Amino acid sequence: MRAQPEASHFIDGVYVEDEAGKAFESIYAATGEVIATLHSATPAIIDKAMAAASRAQLEWASWLPAERARVLRRAADIIRARNEALSELETLDTGKAIQETLVADASSGADSLEWFAAQAASLSGESVPLGDAFAYTVREPLGVCVGIGAWNYPTQIACWKAAPALACGNAMVFKPSEMTPLCALKLAEIFIEAGAPKGLFNVVQGLGDVGAALATHEKTTKVSLTGSVPTGGKVYAAAAAGMRHVTMELGGKSPLVVFDDADLEDAIGGAMLGNFYSTGQVCSNGTRVFVQKGILEKFLARLAERTAKIRIGDPLDPETHLGPLISKAQHDKVMAYIEKGKAEGARLVIGGGVPEGEAFAAGTYIEPTVFAGVTDDMTIAREEIFGPVMSVLSFDTEEEVVERANGTEFGLAAGLFTKDISRAHRVAGRLAAGICWINTYNLTPVEIPFGGVKHSGLGRENGKAAIAFYSQLKTVHVALGKVDSPY
Ligand code: NDP
Repeated sequence: MRAQPEASHFIDGVYVEDEAGKAFESIYAATGEVIATLHSATPAIIDKAMAAASRAQLEWASWLPAERARVLRRAADIIRARNEALSELETLDTGKAIQETLVADASSGADSLEWFAAQAASLSGESVPLGDAFAYTVREPLGVCVGIGAWNYPTQIACWKAAPALACGNAMVFKPSEMTPLCALKLAEIFIEAGAPKGLFNVVQGLGDVGAALATHEKTTKVSLTGSVPTGGKVYAAAAAGMRHVTMELGGKSPLVVFDDADLEDAIGGAMLGNFYSTGQVCSNGTRVFVQKGILEKFLARLAERTAKIRIGDPLDPETHLGPLISKAQHDKVMAYIEKGKAEGARLVIGGGVPEGEAFAAGTYIEPTVFAGVTDDMTIAREEIFGPVMSVLSFDTEEEVVERANGTEFGLAAGLFTKDISRAHRVAGRLAAGICWINTYNLTPVEIPFGGVKHSGLGRENGKAAIAFYSQLKTVHVALGKVDSPY
């Protein structure tokens, strides 16, 4: 199985190669096959991409907003028309089940392009009356934005960054994770087909050093990173040195609270979606599931029953629910957490191992895993695992659970299940998280802002809120009378 792109990078409207860059392989996680070999960007490639983006940005910003909107809408249409092929590539790039990629990746990218196209055409400032003067504000682009992506949602991350950036009149240079280098290249092709100026959206490949070089490039005015908290700290500090704008979408260890009056089937469905979707490799996952004591045993029994029915296997089979993890390194990291969970006294309810059989031999599979009897101090309750591992904790009172749920340095997301409407809003108001779901989990429509508090990040993607992070205000003060000067 091969998915070799024409060349490693896409710059100024065409594929570009520079074999002087270190070669790295793209591996299909389900079989271990090498599906593409690419080269990391050299300094010359980085400069070329930044120069192309800088040129294109000036042209793009001079277009009428409605013309820019048209390009974004066309790109969305092309993505939708090619959803099947793009979803297959996403599955090869990540190992995620095709059942998911067909509905959650390219299609979410198209949604964001379409939605921000509408915003592009309606960007405006305000007018402030000041007696014998008035002022007006204009929303201006930042310039060249750098996007750096994680490996769990390569198409979606590229689109969620490109859509608001381009809508506001910026250009972008995007660096995918070196583990998922393929999907962003297709997006770059699509922008050209949709009529974007050459150089408006460029893709350069590489590891962290390429990301670091982009974040500190003299032409970079903004860095938007999706990644882990430690990488976020480094990129934020590097960007600060040049007074660059940032958006940081980082990791989490989010709480999902199930009160004893909750609809049990819904709560279990939410907990499973919030732990096993994308083989658990979702930043906003509700990996600490707090269940009120009165319903704990019932919850665990039914959760185990439903988890046992999850179909794990070939991600290209439409019947498969759960594919492999992204890489051998991630697989081993998750298995080490499972071992730690057992060693620290958590009770394994289901899973915890590697599925047996020929079909799984070469892939990086792990069974969907549930631990019960987890306490707040255990490693599996404190650290982000990024795999299909759910920790179930129990609680007595609302007061107690809010305090424990907030007892983490992370603050990306939170969820709660209850039929008590007052309690639902009261608890949502007290949970320290950037997004809180009531009686559902992990829904991220592009219309609503997404992002974290505390160490989980800065800024917001999606929704009108994202506009503020991809543009800056200019204020124009207009005098209507004489200049009153004492000199
Ligand atoms: P990493 O932080 O390891 O990497 C993220 C990206 O940053 C990669 O492209 C990486 O390159 C690059 N990078 C690494 N070091 C540097 C550096 N010093 N300067 C600039 N760029 C650098 O994250 P993962 O790829 O492992 O993704 C998993 C993490 O992402 C999890 O913590 C998860 O929670 C988080 N995440 C957050 C989301 C959110 O929206 N809040 C959504 C999805 C994931 P390379 O890997 O190629 O070396």
